Amino acid sequence: TRQIRLARRPIGEPVDDDYEFTTRDLPELQEGQVLLRTIYLSLDPYMRGRMSDAKSYAQPLDIGDVMLGQTVCEVVESASDRRAVGDIVLAFTGWQTHAVVQGKHTRKLDPSAAPITTALGVLGMPGFTAYGGLLGIGHPQEGDTVVVAAATGPVGSAVGQIARVKGARAVGIAGGPEKCAALIDDFGFDAAVDHRAPDFVERLAGATPDGIDVYFENVGGRVTNAVIDRFNPFARMPVCGVISGYNAVDGLADADRLAPDFLHRILVDRLTIRGFIQDEFIESHHEDFVRDMTAWVGDGRVRYREDIVEGLDQAPEAFRGLLTGRNFGKLLIRVGDD
Ligand code: NDP
Repeated sequence: TRQIRLARRPIGEPVDDDYEFTTRDLPELQEGQVLLRTIYLSLDPYMRGRMSDAKSYAQPLDIGDVMLGQTVCEVVESASDRRAVGDIVLAFTGWQTHAVVQGKHTRKLDPSAAPITTALGVLGMPGFTAYGGLLGIGHPQEGDTVVVAAATGPVGSAVGQIARVKGARAVGIAGGPEKCAALIDDFGFDAAVDHRAPDFVERLAGATPDGIDVYFENVGGRVTNAVIDRFNPFARMPVCGVISGYNAVDGLADADRLAPDFLHRILVDRLTIRGFIQDEFIESHHEDFVRDMTAWVGDGRVRYREDIVEGLDQAPEAFRGLLTGRNFGKLLIRVGDD
Protein backbone atom coordinates (compact mmCIF):
# COMPACT_ATOMS: atom_id res chain seq x y z
CA THR A 1 0.00 0.00 0.00
CA ARG A 2 1.13 3.53 -0.73
CA GLN A 3 0.59 5.87 2.21
CA ILE A 4 1.00 9.44 3.36
CA ARG A 5 2.09 9.78 6.97
CA LEU A 6 2.52 12.71 9.33
CA ALA A 7 6.28 13.38 9.43
CA ARG A 8 6.20 16.32 11.87
CA ARG A 9 3.72 18.81 13.29
CA PRO A 10 3.09 21.73 10.92
CA ILE A 11 3.71 25.29 12.01
CA GLY A 12 1.09 27.39 10.23
CA GLU A 13 0.15 26.11 6.81
CA PRO A 14 1.22 22.44 6.34
CA VAL A 15 4.15 22.15 3.92
CA ASP A 16 5.33 19.12 1.92
CA ASP A 17 8.01 18.23 4.46
CA ASP A 18 5.35 17.77 7.12
CA TYR A 19 4.34 14.59 5.27
CA GLU A 20 6.18 11.37 4.48
CA PHE A 21 5.30 9.16 1.50
CA THR A 22 5.76 5.47 2.30
CA THR A 23 5.07 2.08 0.72
CA ARG A 24 4.35 -0.86 3.01
CA ASP A 25 3.43 -4.54 2.63
CA LEU A 26 0.03 -5.38 4.01
CA PRO A 27 -0.48 -8.11 6.61
CA GLU A 28 -2.16 -11.43 5.77
CA LEU A 29 -5.92 -11.34 6.27
CA GLN A 30 -7.09 -12.68 9.63
CA GLU A 31 -10.55 -14.07 10.29
CA GLY A 32 -13.10 -11.24 10.11
CA GLN A 33 -10.85 -8.90 8.10
CA VAL A 34 -11.12 -7.45 4.62
CA LEU A 35 -8.56 -6.01 2.21
CA LEU A 36 -9.78 -2.67 0.90
CA ARG A 37 -8.75 -0.64 -2.13
CA THR A 38 -9.41 3.06 -1.68
CA ILE A 39 -11.55 4.67 -4.37
CA TYR A 40 -12.23 8.07 -2.74
CA LEU A 41 -10.57 9.76 0.21
CA SER A 42 -12.41 12.61 1.93
CA LEU A 43 -10.35 15.65 2.91
CA ASP A 44 -11.90 17.61 5.79
CA PRO A 45 -10.86 20.66 7.81
CA TYR A 46 -10.73 18.72 11.12
CA MET A 47 -7.61 16.92 9.87
CA ARG A 48 -5.57 20.07 10.51
CA GLY A 49 -6.44 19.82 14.21
CA ARG A 50 -5.29 16.20 14.41
CA MET A 51 -1.89 17.14 12.95
CA SER A 52 -1.35 19.49 15.88
CA ASP A 53 -0.94 18.56 19.53
CA ALA A 54 -2.97 21.50 20.84
CA LYS A 55 -5.74 20.48 23.23
CA SER A 56 -8.84 19.45 21.32
CA TYR A 57 -11.89 17.19 21.46
CA ALA A 58 -9.96 14.29 19.88
CA GLN A 59 -6.53 12.72 20.29
CA PRO A 60 -3.96 14.08 17.85
CA LEU A 61 -2.14 11.83 15.41
CA ASP A 62 1.28 10.63 16.52
CA ILE A 63 4.28 11.47 14.37
CA GLY A 64 4.62 8.63 11.86
CA ASP A 65 0.90 7.77 11.80
CA VAL A 66 -0.87 7.43 8.47
CA MET A 67 -2.93 10.59 7.90
CA LEU A 68 -6.50 9.82 8.90
CA GLY A 69 -9.72 10.17 6.96
CA GLN A 70 -12.95 8.63 5.82
CA THR A 71 -12.85 6.67 2.58
CA VAL A 72 -15.04 4.86 0.09
CA CYS A 73 -13.38 1.56 -0.78
CA GLU A 74 -13.86 -1.64 -2.74
CA VAL A 75 -13.46 -4.97 -0.96
CA VAL A 76 -10.78 -6.85 -2.92
CA GLU A 77 -10.33 -9.81 -0.52
CA SER A 78 -12.57 -10.91 2.30
CA ALA A 79 -12.19 -13.16 5.32
CA SER A 80 -15.32 -11.64 6.85
CA ASP A 81 -18.75 -13.16 6.48
CA ARG A 82 -20.22 -9.65 6.52
CA ARG A 83 -18.48 -8.44 3.33
CA ALA A 84 -18.02 -9.95 -0.11
CA VAL A 85 -15.39 -9.20 -2.75
CA GLY A 86 -16.67 -6.34 -4.88
CA ASP A 87 -18.70 -4.68 -2.10
CA ILE A 88 -18.36 -0.90 -1.94
CA VAL A 89 -17.97 0.25 1.65
CA LEU A 90 -17.52 3.32 3.78
CA ALA A 91 -14.41 2.98 5.93
CA PHE A 92 -11.92 5.06 7.89
CA THR A 93 -8.65 4.01 6.29
CA GLY A 94 -7.00 7.40 5.76
CA TRP A 95 -4.49 8.60 3.20
CA GLN A 96 -3.47 5.28 1.63
CA THR A 97 -4.26 3.18 -1.41
CA HIS A 98 -5.06 -0.08 0.41
CA ALA A 99 -5.76 -1.21 3.95
CA VAL A 100 -6.66 -4.28 5.97
CA VAL A 101 -9.45 -3.67 8.49
CA GLN A 102 -12.15 -5.58 10.35
CA GLY A 103 -15.18 -6.11 8.12
CA LYS A 104 -17.41 -4.93 10.96
CA HIS A 105 -15.64 -1.55 10.90
CA THR A 106 -16.96 -0.86 7.40
CA ARG A 107 -20.45 0.11 6.28
CA LYS A 108 -21.75 -1.34 3.05
CA LEU A 109 -22.97 1.21 0.50
CA ASP A 110 -25.63 0.70 -2.15
CA PRO A 111 -24.23 2.28 -5.34
CA SER A 112 -27.65 2.08 -7.01
CA ALA A 113 -29.28 4.22 -4.27
CA ALA A 114 -26.95 7.24 -4.50
CA PRO A 115 -23.55 8.06 -6.04
CA ILE A 116 -20.93 6.55 -3.74
CA THR A 117 -19.22 9.91 -3.24
CA THR A 118 -22.27 11.28 -1.43
CA ALA A 119 -21.46 9.00 1.53
CA LEU A 120 -18.53 11.34 2.21
CA GLY A 121 -20.50 14.55 1.63
CA VAL A 122 -24.15 15.50 1.54
CA LEU A 123 -25.38 12.10 2.79
CA GLY A 124 -22.40 11.58 5.08
CA MET A 125 -20.61 13.34 7.92
CA PRO A 126 -20.65 16.91 6.50
CA GLY A 127 -24.34 16.75 5.58
CA PHE A 128 -25.14 15.35 9.00
CA THR A 129 -23.11 18.11 10.65
CA ALA A 130 -25.29 20.67 8.90
CA TYR A 131 -28.50 18.87 9.77
CA GLY A 132 -27.70 18.19 13.42
CA GLY A 133 -26.20 21.59 14.18
CA LEU A 134 -28.82 23.63 12.38
CA LEU A 135 -31.90 21.76 13.61
CA GLY A 136 -30.52 20.74 17.01
CA ILE A 137 -29.16 24.17 17.99
CA GLY A 138 -30.14 26.76 15.37
CA HIS A 139 -33.89 25.97 15.37
CA PRO A 140 -34.65 27.95 12.20
CA GLN A 141 -38.21 29.24 12.14
CA GLU A 142 -40.26 30.26 9.14
CA GLY A 143 -39.23 33.75 8.06
CA ASP A 144 -35.96 33.71 10.03
CA THR A 145 -32.77 34.89 8.40
CA VAL A 146 -30.12 32.14 8.55
CA VAL A 147 -26.53 33.07 7.69
CA VAL A 148 -23.71 30.61 7.00
CA ALA A 149 -20.17 31.04 5.70
CA ALA A 150 -17.99 28.59 3.75
CA ALA A 151 -21.38 28.35 2.12
CA THR A 152 -20.43 26.46 -1.04
CA GLY A 153 -18.76 23.70 1.01
CA PRO A 154 -20.53 20.50 2.00
CA VAL A 155 -21.55 21.76 5.45
CA GLY A 156 -22.48 25.33 4.46
CA SER A 157 -24.39 24.44 1.30
CA ALA A 158 -26.47 21.92 3.24
CA VAL A 159 -27.12 24.43 6.04
CA GLY A 160 -28.54 27.01 3.64
CA GLN A 161 -30.70 24.56 1.76
CA ILE A 162 -32.08 22.90 4.90
CA ALA A 163 -32.87 26.39 6.25
CA ARG A 164 -34.92 27.04 3.12
CA VAL A 165 -36.76 23.73 3.44
CA LYS A 166 -37.74 24.98 6.92
CA GLY A 167 -39.09 28.23 5.46
CA ALA A 168 -36.19 30.47 6.49
CA ARG A 169 -34.30 32.95 4.33
CA ALA A 170 -30.78 31.69 3.56
CA VAL A 171 -27.86 34.08 3.21
CA GLY A 172 -24.54 32.53 2.19
CA ILE A 173 -21.07 33.98 2.63
CA ALA A 174 -18.35 32.74 0.29
CA GLY A 175 -15.00 33.78 -1.14
CA GLY A 176 -15.20 35.35 -4.61
CA PRO A 177 -17.87 36.14 -7.21
CA GLU A 178 -17.91 32.67 -8.77
CA LYS A 179 -18.77 30.97 -5.50
CA CYS A 180 -21.35 33.67 -4.73
CA ALA A 181 -23.03 33.10 -8.11
CA ALA A 182 -23.19 29.35 -7.39
CA LEU A 183 -24.92 30.06 -4.06
CA ILE A 184 -27.81 31.73 -5.87
CA ASP A 185 -27.91 29.77 -9.13
CA ASP A 186 -27.06 26.25 -7.98
CA PHE A 187 -27.95 26.10 -4.30
CA GLY A 188 -30.96 28.46 -4.27
CA PHE A 189 -29.76 30.78 -1.47
CA ASP A 190 -31.74 34.02 -1.20
CA ALA A 191 -28.62 36.17 -1.05
CA ALA A 192 -24.85 35.76 -1.30
CA VAL A 193 -22.09 37.92 0.13
CA ASP A 194 -18.41 37.81 -0.87
CA HIS A 195 -16.23 37.97 2.27
CA ARG A 196 -13.26 39.03 0.15
CA ALA A 197 -15.02 42.18 -1.09
CA PRO A 198 -13.60 45.38 0.49
CA ASP A 199 -17.12 46.48 1.43
CA PHE A 200 -18.06 43.06 2.89
CA VAL A 201 -19.56 44.58 6.05
CA GLU A 202 -21.89 46.86 4.10
CA ARG A 203 -22.85 44.05 1.73
CA LEU A 204 -23.71 41.78 4.64
CA ALA A 205 -25.94 44.53 6.06
CA GLY A 206 -27.63 44.90 2.68
CA ALA A 207 -28.27 41.15 2.45
CA THR A 208 -29.75 40.96 5.98
CA PRO A 209 -32.20 43.90 6.15
CA ASP A 210 -34.19 42.17 8.93
CA GLY A 211 -31.12 41.24 10.98
CA ILE A 212 -29.83 37.72 11.64
CA ASP A 213 -31.68 35.06 13.62
CA VAL A 214 -29.35 32.11 13.13
CA TYR A 215 -25.65 32.24 12.34
CA PHE A 216 -24.15 28.83 11.67
CA GLU A 217 -20.48 29.42 12.50
CA ASN A 218 -17.96 27.75 10.17
CA VAL A 219 -15.17 30.29 9.86
CA GLY A 220 -14.64 32.76 12.72
CA GLY A 221 -12.48 35.86 12.33
CA ARG A 222 -13.68 38.99 10.54
CA VAL A 223 -16.78 37.29 9.15
CA THR A 224 -18.00 36.62 12.68
CA ASN A 225 -17.26 40.15 13.78
CA ALA A 226 -19.48 41.48 11.03
CA VAL A 227 -22.28 39.03 11.79
CA ILE A 228 -22.36 39.82 15.52
CA ASP A 229 -23.40 43.38 14.82
CA ARG A 230 -26.51 42.18 13.00
CA PHE A 231 -27.90 39.66 15.51
CA ASN A 232 -31.56 39.98 16.45
CA PRO A 233 -32.60 39.39 20.07
CA PHE A 234 -32.63 35.67 20.91
CA ALA A 235 -30.54 34.77 17.88
CA ARG A 236 -28.88 31.35 17.90
CA MET A 237 -25.31 30.55 16.91
CA PRO A 238 -24.32 26.89 16.49
CA VAL A 239 -20.51 26.96 16.52
CA CYS A 240 -19.40 24.25 14.13
CA GLY A 241 -15.92 25.35 13.07
CA VAL A 242 -13.53 28.30 12.94
CA ILE A 243 -11.52 27.44 9.86
CA SER A 244 -9.99 30.90 9.48
CA GLY A 245 -7.83 30.10 12.51
CA TYR A 246 -6.82 26.47 11.82
CA ASN A 247 -3.42 27.42 10.36
CA ALA A 248 -2.86 30.27 12.85
CA VAL A 249 0.46 30.12 14.70
CA ASP A 250 -0.12 32.58 17.55
CA GLY A 251 -3.87 32.91 17.41
CA LEU A 252 -5.63 35.13 14.93
CA ALA A 253 -4.27 38.49 13.92
CA ASP A 254 -5.54 41.21 16.24
CA ALA A 255 -8.03 42.56 13.75
CA ASP A 256 -9.55 39.11 13.36
CA ARG A 257 -10.16 38.46 17.02
CA LEU A 258 -13.75 38.43 18.16
CA ALA A 259 -14.99 41.84 19.09
CA PRO A 260 -14.16 42.46 22.76
CA ASP A 261 -17.72 43.56 23.47
CA PHE A 262 -19.08 40.16 22.39
CA LEU A 263 -20.01 39.10 25.92
CA HIS A 264 -21.97 42.27 26.31
CA ARG A 265 -23.81 41.57 23.08
CA ILE A 266 -24.59 38.04 24.21
CA LEU A 267 -26.23 39.49 27.29
CA VAL A 268 -28.02 42.43 25.71
CA ASP A 269 -29.35 40.41 22.77
CA ARG A 270 -29.86 37.24 24.88
CA LEU A 271 -27.99 35.16 22.33
CA THR A 272 -27.61 31.40 22.44
CA ILE A 273 -24.14 30.27 21.46
CA ARG A 274 -23.25 26.63 21.57
CA GLY A 275 -20.38 24.66 20.12
CA PHE A 276 -20.93 21.10 18.95
CA ILE A 277 -19.22 18.10 17.41
CA GLN A 278 -21.56 16.34 15.02
CA ASP A 279 -21.54 12.91 16.68
CA GLU A 280 -23.43 14.21 19.71
CA PHE A 281 -26.52 14.37 17.46
CA ILE A 282 -26.34 10.80 16.22
CA GLU A 283 -28.85 9.46 18.71
CA SER A 284 -31.29 12.34 18.44
CA HIS A 285 -31.04 13.18 14.72
CA HIS A 286 -29.32 10.54 12.60
CA GLU A 287 -32.36 8.50 11.68
CA ASP A 288 -34.26 11.65 10.68
CA PHE A 289 -31.23 12.88 8.75
CA VAL A 290 -31.03 9.75 6.62
CA ARG A 291 -34.74 9.89 5.88
CA ASP A 292 -34.97 13.65 5.20
CA MET A 293 -31.70 14.22 3.41
CA THR A 294 -32.14 11.22 1.11
CA ALA A 295 -35.58 12.55 0.20
CA TRP A 296 -34.38 16.15 -0.27
CA VAL A 297 -31.42 15.14 -2.42
CA GLY A 298 -33.78 12.88 -4.38
CA ASP A 299 -36.32 15.61 -5.11
CA GLY A 300 -33.68 18.28 -5.75
CA ARG A 301 -34.41 20.46 -2.72
CA VAL A 302 -30.87 19.84 -1.55
CA ARG A 303 -28.16 19.95 -4.19
CA TYR A 304 -24.47 19.28 -3.73
CA ARG A 305 -21.25 20.06 -5.45
CA GLU A 306 -18.04 18.01 -5.42
CA ASP A 307 -14.46 19.00 -6.13
CA ILE A 308 -12.60 15.82 -7.09
CA VAL A 309 -8.81 15.84 -7.32
CA GLU A 310 -7.01 12.95 -9.05
CA GLY A 311 -4.36 10.92 -7.25
CA LEU A 312 -3.31 10.29 -3.65
CA ASP A 313 -0.08 12.25 -4.17
CA GLN A 314 -2.15 15.41 -4.64
CA ALA A 315 -3.65 15.18 -1.15
CA PRO A 316 -1.19 17.54 0.61
CA GLU A 317 -1.66 20.29 -1.97
CA ALA A 318 -5.44 19.81 -2.11
CA PHE A 319 -5.57 19.96 1.69
CA ARG A 320 -3.71 23.30 1.69
CA GLY A 321 -6.36 24.54 -0.75
CA LEU A 322 -9.17 23.44 1.57
CA LEU A 323 -7.88 25.70 4.34
CA THR A 324 -7.53 28.69 2.02
CA GLY A 325 -10.69 28.37 -0.07
CA ARG A 326 -9.32 26.93 -3.32
CA ASN A 327 -11.77 24.02 -3.15
CA PHE A 328 -15.19 24.55 -4.66
CA GLY A 329 -17.52 21.96 -3.15
CA LYS A 330 -16.87 18.80 -1.15
CA LEU A 331 -13.17 18.03 -1.55
CA LEU A 332 -12.40 14.41 -2.46
CA ILE A 333 -9.29 12.65 -3.70
CA ARG A 334 -9.89 9.99 -6.31
CA VAL A 335 -7.30 7.44 -5.26
CA GLY A 336 -8.26 4.65 -7.65
CA ASP A 337 -10.80 3.93 -10.39
CA ASP A 338 -14.33 3.19 -9.32
P1 NDP B 1 -15.46 23.51 3.10
O1 NDP B 1 -15.45 22.61 1.92
O2 NDP B 1 -16.50 24.53 3.20
O3 NDP B 1 -14.00 24.17 3.05
C1 NDP B 1 -13.58 25.15 3.80
C2 NDP B 1 -13.98 26.53 3.23
O4 NDP B 1 -13.78 27.48 4.26
C3 NDP B 1 -13.09 27.03 2.11
O5 NDP B 1 -13.46 26.52 0.85
C4 NDP B 1 -13.31 28.54 2.22
O6 NDP B 1 -14.48 28.90 1.47
C5 NDP B 1 -13.64 28.75 3.69
N1 NDP B 1 -12.58 29.49 4.36
C6 NDP B 1 -11.31 29.10 4.53
N2 NDP B 1 -10.61 30.06 5.16
C7 NDP B 1 -11.47 31.07 5.40
C8 NDP B 1 -11.37 32.35 6.04
N3 NDP B 1 -10.20 32.77 6.54
N4 NDP B 1 -12.47 33.13 6.12
C9 NDP B 1 -13.64 32.71 5.61
N5 NDP B 1 -13.81 31.50 4.99
C10 NDP B 1 -12.73 30.71 4.90
O7 NDP B 1 -15.41 22.67 4.47
P2 NDP B 1 -16.53 21.83 5.24
O8 NDP B 1 -17.88 22.15 4.71
O9 NDP B 1 -16.09 20.43 5.27
O10 NDP B 1 -16.40 22.41 6.72
C11 NDP B 1 -16.92 23.67 7.08
C12 NDP B 1 -16.68 23.93 8.56
O11 NDP B 1 -17.36 22.96 9.34
C13 NDP B 1 -15.22 23.87 8.99
O12 NDP B 1 -14.98 24.90 9.92
C14 NDP B 1 -15.11 22.52 9.66
O13 NDP B 1 -14.07 22.48 10.60
C15 NDP B 1 -16.48 22.42 10.31
N6 NDP B 1 -16.91 21.07 10.65
C16 NDP B 1 -17.27 20.83 11.95
C17 NDP B 1 -17.77 19.62 12.33
C18 NDP B 1 -18.24 19.43 13.74
O14 NDP B 1 -18.62 18.33 14.11
N7 NDP B 1 -18.25 20.46 14.57
C19 NDP B 1 -17.87 18.50 11.39
C20 NDP B 1 -17.53 18.87 10.02
C21 NDP B 1 -17.05 20.12 9.69
P3 NDP B 1 -14.61 30.38 0.81
O15 NDP B 1 -13.71 30.36 -0.40
O16 NDP B 1 -16.04 30.48 0.50
O17 NDP B 1 -14.14 31.34 1.83
